[in-house]
Formats: sequence, structure tokens, C-alpha cells
Amino acid sequence: MVSEAKSAIFFSPCNPVQVRADVCVTLNIMAEAVLEKYLGLPPIVGVDRSDCFQHLVERVLSKIRGWKEKLLSVGGREILLKAVIQAIPSYAMSVFKLPKEICNDITSTMSKYWCGDDDHKKHMHWFAWWKMCVPKEQGGMGFRDIHCFNLAFLAKQSWRLLSEPDSLCAQVLRAKYFPDGDLLNCSLKKGSSYTWQSIWSGLQTFKKGIIWRVGDGTSINLWNDPWIPSSPNKRLHTPRNNIVLTRVSELIDEENRVWDEDLIRQLFWPIDAERILNIPLALGMMTYFVSWHPDRRGVFSVKSAYHEEWEFQHGRKLRRTSNYQTSGINPIWKTLWKLRIPVNVKIHAWRTLLGAIPCYGVLANRHIRTSSQCPLCISDCESIKHVMFQCPRVLEIWRILGLSSLIQEVCTMERDGGAILQDLLLSKSNIHSHIADVGRGELIATAV
Ligand SMILES: [Zn+2]
Repeated sequence: MVSEAKSAIFFSPCNPVQVRADVCVTLNIMAEAVLEKYLGLPPIVGVDRSDCFQHLVERVLSKIRGWKEKLLSVGGREILLKAVIQAIPSYAMSVFKLPKEICNDITSTMSKYWCGDDDHKKHMHWFAWWKMCVPKEQGGMGFRDIHCFNLAFLAKQSWRLLSEPDSLCAQVLRAKYFPDGDLLNCSLKKGSSYTWQSIWSGLQTFKKGIIWRVGDGTSINLWNDPWIPSSPNKRLHTPRNNIVLTRVSELIDEENRVWDEDLIRQLFWPIDAERILNIPLALGMMTYFVSWHPDRRGVFSVKSAYHEEWEFQHGRKLRRTSNYQTSGINPIWKTLWKLRIPVNVKIHAWRTLLGAIPCYGVLANRHIRTSSQCPLCISDCESIKHVMFQCPRVLEIWRILGLSSLIQEVCTMERDGGAILQDLLLSKSNIHSHIADVGRGELIATAV
């Protein structure tokens, strides 16, 4: 249904007036579109893309300016950033790929607000923003990476084009950009509209999460398509060498609808053979279809596409960092965020675990201060371990809580403050403090 009265037409500047008039008469649409914005988005994105989206940065800035006067706690800032700021560009991001500068501007505004910077005073930014975007249970603060989220939103358009091929939008885009109907393998042609360029970028993200489900297997390329669910990259590991087969269908005994086990074992490495033989063969006439691998039911979601893209961009970096154990995700994070204590206290403990506490010892190491001496007891270097567990003034607090012998015991080991706190929070043994009815983790995290 198209309402002619509400419709308008765009003309490129090089269209002659007569042609414009003819088109208007033929379509019976008389208005020429000269809108500034359509549903809050630019109707035409010109050469200078940043200009079209600058209003998003302005909105983020004005929101944050409003909050600054309120001097919120770190926990309050976290909630505002996640609930309000991250949502501002969502709508534009589902249609357009935001220019890099716009993503960067929004990100740096968020990062400055989080660290408490203003025009007069700058604070230390302890971590690169991508580390703040690490999921909480893996040691980060779980902020959204704007660029990855943008691509995940756009990936949804590819899912729509595939699952609703008869929609008007899909028909128009197919006719113009992938007339052979092969969306997944289409290339980006010069002169494509900005909308299509955006969808195409999302398509690259989309391709990271899809998997082919084998029907009769004819169209699936044995070597290039992702089709083996249990393989890490969803593909074969056996090198091709001089194997002549190219289609998955050639591995299927058509008569009995079963895998040709002998052939498979003979051609591929045992690991590949096992994986292939474990794929159930669909009965019936279904040839093949695309499914979304991260979801058990095969249904696309922006959230899972975001995780795929984030993992692709930052996963390797994360696994190289020291707080990521080789045995997998450190259980400390789950334990920490589950504690029933105020968010501000949790974030303080999170910083302690990561060694991001601005005590003099740490600042001196970063060449921000010259002296690292503790200003309270003037006897020792003010390391995190000293501040939390060893300074005589602090030991007094631990003594009042009835925990001084425990603290003395853990401090005998040569470990830094973060590691000691981690041991204390993860230990299962009971502690006897003077305060009843408080969990071990809650007590220790609050005391720190
Ligand atoms: Zn001291």
C-alpha cells in the first residue's frame, strides 16, 4: 500500500526539468522531496557523511552535560551510559553504517564521562575502551562497542533479505545489487548507494555467524562454505590437495539418504570424518538452507551477531591479556558481580582486582608521582597490597572485623593486592568475623 498523497520523489540534480515533470505525472506523485530528516534520519547521505550524523554526537553531549551537574556515583554513571547513551544511536545504526569518526566521538564522550573528566580536570583512563566493552563475566564492564553493535544491527537486514525474499525491499535490492540471487557471495559494486554499502558491511558480519544446513547438499561448496557445526571455523580442516570433489552432495549416498562413510573416511582427516558423520541428514525435499549458528534454534538475533563481531574484532586481544587465564574464563568475575553489595563497592573491588587503584605506589610506577611512600604510616611503599591489607591503619579495620589473622596469613605470600583479594573472594572456607549474617565475599569486598 503506497499513499500517493504522502509520497515524495527524489531527483538527482542532473535530471532535466521535463523528465522530472513526466515522472511525477506518470507516478501521480506531485511532491519533490526536500526533507531535512525523515523519521530522524537523513534521507540522502552526501559525500560528507559525518555531517549527516553529527546530531547524534550532539545529543550524547547534551545529555551528558545535563548529568554532570548531578555528580553521580560510578554505579549511577554506568547505568546512565548503558540505558540512555548507548540507545541514542540505535535507530540510525539499524539503517546506516555510522562513519568511524562518529563512533569514535560517541565512544570518547562516554569514556570521559565514565572517568569523571570535565573541561578543567582530566582523570586517568586506566583501560582502553575496548576493555571496558569486555563482557562483565569475562572481566570488563560490559559496555557496548558502538561500531560492532552497528554492524550487528545491519546484519539483521541480511537475515531479512534471506528470510523474506519476496518483500518489496528485497525485490528492489536484489534487482539492483545481486540479480543472480546470490546475496551471500555478492560483491560491492562501485557507485552503490550508501544504504546498500551499509547493508553490505552488515552482510560481512552476518556471514560470520551463518551455517549451511545440509539437505541434499547440492549447492553447498565442500571447501568454501561453512557447513560443519562442530568445527571451530565451521569448515573442513583437511587440505584439499588433489581431491576432485566440490559439492557436499557428492558425499551423500542418495539412494539411502545416508553419508557415504567409506568415502568420507578415505578422503578426510579422522577429525573431519567424525564431524561430518555426526551431521544429521534432513529427510524430504529440502535442498539446503542458511541457519544462524550462535542460536540453538538457528534464529538470528542482533545480540548474538554483536557477540560474533566483537569476538572477531577483540577476542584475540582479550585472550592475550594477563587477566585471561589459559584454562578459560576466570571465575572471579562471576563471583564478584553476583555479590549482594552496592554497585559502587563492586566496581571498586573490580578495580582492585585489575590493579587500577590510584595509590601512590601505582602512580609512581606510571611516572605520575615521584614518591611512592604511604602518606598514612610513612614507612612503606603505598602499593595496592599495602593500602588494602598491610598499612597499620588498615589493619586496625581488619582487626575490628575480627579478620586480622586471616589477612596476615594471606599477606605472607609474595603476591600483589589484586591476587590476594581474588583468593579471598574465591576461597570456599568459612570465616569467623564479629559481624554475623554477612556472606564472606560481601564482607571482604566491602571492607576492601
Ligand atoms: Zn601505610
